[in-house]
Amino acid sequence: MSSTVKEFLDQVVAGGTCTGCGLCAGLDASQKSYMRATPKGPRPVISVDHEIPEMIRQCCAGHRIDYPGLYRQHYGQVPENWLTGIISEVYTGYCTDETIRRNSSSGGVLTAVLCYLLESGEIDAAVVVTQGIPEPEKASVVIASSTAEIQAASQSVYVPVSTLDILNRLDPQKRYAITCLPEQSAALRVLQQQGHANALSIKYVLGPYTGTAIYPAAIETFQRINGVKKQDAVTSLKWRAGEWPGYLEIITRSGKVLRSPKVYYNFLIPFFVTNASLQSMDFANEFADLAVGDAWSPEFESQGQGFSVVVSRNEKMTTLLKELQQKGVLSLRKEPLESASAMHGHMIDFKKRGSYIRNRMRRMFGRKAPDFGYKPASVGIKRIMVELVISAIFVLGKTRLLRLMLYLLPERIIGPLFNTLRLKWKKVSRKTKRQGLESYAVVITEKQP
Ligand SMILES: Cc1cc2nc3c(=O)[nH]c(=O)nc-3n(C[C@H](O)[C@H](O)[C@H](O)COP(=O)(O)OP(=O)(O)OC[C@H]3O[C@@H](n4cnc5c(N)ncnc54)[C@H](O)[C@@H]3O)c2cc1C
Repeated sequence: MSSTVKEFLDQVVAGGTCTGCGLCAGLDASQKSYMRATPKGPRPVISVDHEIPEMIRQCCAGHRIDYPGLYRQHYGQVPENWLTGIISEVYTGYCTDETIRRNSSSGGVLTAVLCYLLESGEIDAAVVVTQGIPEPEKASVVIASSTAEIQAASQSVYVPVSTLDILNRLDPQKRYAITCLPEQSAALRVLQQQGHANALSIKYVLGPYTGTAIYPAAIETFQRINGVKKQDAVTSLKWRAGEWPGYLEIITRSGKVLRSPKVYYNFLIPFFVTNASLQSMDFANEFADLAVGDAWSPEFESQGQGFSVVVSRNEKMTTLLKELQQKGVLSLRKEPLESASAMHGHMIDFKKRGSYIRNRMRRMFGRKAPDFGYKPASVGIKRIMVELVISAIFVLGKTRLLRLMLYLLPERIIGPLFNTLRLKWKKVSRKTKRQGLESYAVVITEKQP
C-alpha cells in the first residue's frame, strides 16, 4: 500500500468516482476533515492531520466494496439472485396514515417504520436526510429524535447528500436507525463487520431503491429555464410534492411557483446525472434491512395515492413489518419477486449490466472506476451497443453546449418531449435490456479470504 490515506482519498476525488457519501470525513477521529458543497455535490476536504483509519480503503464506494465478501460476512452467503440480493419477504403497500402517505415519496413506508421504531423505544433517534436544511434548496443529514422531525424528512432527495459524515457525531451508547443509499448501506456494513463502535450503534439500516440522482446544479438550471431570476431566492423545494408519483415543486420569494411532474423533470437526468448513479451496481439497496421503491405498475399507477415495493432482507425486519400490518400502521400485500422485479426491470439492468459496462469503458479510457468484486457472467453485444448509446447521451448531455441548449427550450416543451422520447427508447431497447436478465449470473472477481 504505497499511498497515504490522504493521497488515496484525494485520488478518488480527482479520479471522478467519489460518491460524496461523507464516510471518510465521518471516520476522521480528529474531526478535522469535512465535506464541502460543490456543484457536483459534497466532496471531502481531508486534513493533513486527519485520523482516518486505513480501513477506508475497504469501504470507500468510489474505490472498492467487495460485495461477495460482504455478502458472506453479513448474510453468511452470496445471493442466489444477484439482481435483487438476499430477500426475506417482498410486499407492495403503503402507510395507512393519510398525511404521512401523501407527504411521502411513494407509500410512506420508510417514514412510518422509522416513526414506529422511535415510538416503540427500539431506537433513540433516526438519522434521516431532510430537504430544506440548512437552506430551502439544500439537503442535509439530521439526527431526528421526534416523529415530527422524521416526518419532516419524508420524500426522496434526488441530489447527493453526505449522509455518513454523521458517524462521528453518533453516541455509541445510543441506538439509531438510518436511511442510506445502496453504496452507503454497504459501506456501513463493512464498518460494522470491522467492529466500528459508532457504526454498530446503528441497529436498523433502511433505504430507498436508487436509480439516478442529479447534481445540485440541475436545480439552478431548472429555475433559470423557467424564468426565475438569480436574486429570486428559493423558499421551498419538494421533490415529490402532491399526488403520487408527485412533482418537483419550487416556490420562490417573489411567490413564483414552479411545478413539474416527476416524469417530466426526468429530462434533467441526461444533463446532470451523478457519476455515482452511473457506476453503482446496487439498485435494490442490497445491504439495507428494509429497501423501498416506487411500485411502478399499471395497477397501482392508475390509483394514484402512493404505493411502494417493500423488501425485507431478514427475519427481524419481516416480523416488524407483520407487527405493523397487524396494528394497522401499514397495509401490505405479499408480492411475488418476479412481478416486483418486473416493476424495475429497466433500472435493475441499468445498474447490474449498464454500470459494469460503463465502469469497464472508463477503465479502457484510462480512467478510474470502482470495483465491486463481481461482474456479470456474460453481456451480449447488443446490450453493449445499447449502453454505448446511453453513455453517449450522458457524455454529450454534460457538455456546456448541450446544457446551454436547455435554455432555448421551455420546460413545458422539453418535459413532455423528453418523456415521449424516454418511453419510445424504453420500448425500443426493452427486448435487449431484459434479454438474459432472468438468468443473470455473476463471476466473482474479488479474491476470497
Ligand atoms: C436518489 C434516489 C433515487 C431513487 N431512484 C428510484 C428509482 O429509480 N426507482 C424507484 O422505485 N425508487 C427510487 N427511489 C426511491 C423512491 O423515490 C422512494 O424513496 C421510495 O419509494 C421510498 O418511499 P417512501 O414513501 O417509503 O419514503 P418516505 O416515507 O418518503 O421517506 C423517505 C426517506 O428516505 C430518506 N431519504 C431521502 N433521500 C435520501 C437520500 N438522498 N439519501 C438517504 N436517505 C434519503 C429520508 O431520510 C426519508 O426518511 C430513489 C430515491 C432516491 C433518494
